[in-house]
Amino acid sequence: MLIVKPSFYDRFACRAARCVHSCCVGWEIDVDPGTMELYHTLEGPLGDEIREKIRPLPEPHFILQDDGRCPFLNDGGLCRIILGCGEEALCDICAEHPRFYNCFPGREEAGLGLCCEETVELLLGGESFTLIEDDDGEGDDPDRWVEQLASLRDVLFSYLRDGEGDFSGRIDRALSAADTEFPPFEPAVCAQQLLGLERMDDRWREMLEYLRDSGAGVECRLPLDDPRYERILRYFLYRHLITAKDEEDVRRLLRFCVLGMLTVCALDVVDPERKDEHLRLWSAEIEYSDENISRICTWL
Ligand code: SF4
Repeated sequence: MLIVKPSFYDRFACRAARCVHSCCVGWEIDVDPGTMELYHTLEGPLGDEIREKIRPLPEPHFILQDDGRCPFLNDGGLCRIILGCGEEALCDICAEHPRFYNCFPGREEAGLGLCCEETVELLLGGESFTLIEDDDGEGDDPDRWVEQLASLRDVLFSYLRDGEGDFSGRIDRALSAADTEFPPFEPAVCAQQLLGLERMDDRWREMLEYLRDSGAGVECRLPLDDPRYERILRYFLYRHLITAKDEEDVRRLLRFCVLGMLTVCALDVVDPERKDEHLRLWSAEIEYSDENISRICTWL
């Protein structure tokens, strides 16, 4: 099995109580069947409380408080299930978040979701990332289509990182290597379209409204030669391109990743004080919603 991960993957450590935007607020948390079995056996007041605060349908999930907090997140920002029963009592979603996996025969790609502020710091705070591969020589034969996608991604990465000319020219070359192009980017129009999608966080709505109302002419001022945008685009490509079903899907996902990077960049121009937050919210609101990704790919 070939395991692929970004070079910063193993440095991840949850900020827990130090996290400003805890993932234990605002997300529905489903409880997997194995953990549900464990919860049925827990004794004492905490076991009773856990069972009481899980709604069984449509999938067992924690009943969030009115303010969107997980009922087991204490005032100090720590998880009462971990404190009372240990990390092994966490459901799969809580134990794995913010990790993501793209799994194929003979190949598993792992990453850290950018909805987590620690991942944003790892991606943008240190040296540029590379992909680390480790092959134990066992497992199924690789899928030919997935191998082709991985090779294409390597080519696109090389264009984006090492190609000549400015970054927007390198993006054009990468797009044409996949036989596609990106339509003229108009930040205010894009913000208006994104406002029509499903949203979770009011701060995302406010950011998009601000971009819609002040985004005229921003496309001429995008600081694309700042290396952070090359990293962001490569990381979007790492996560999404390998999931393409066919060649048309490759082109759609490539344009989707470019749109994401350009939108984050435009938000950074109109509100430079909240740069990392723009990336984190793009991820939380768009990358974590299959419906939103699909609707954006349809526009593009
Ligand atoms: S968002 Fe990231 S750092 Fe914050 S609590 Fe969740 S996993 Fe930890």
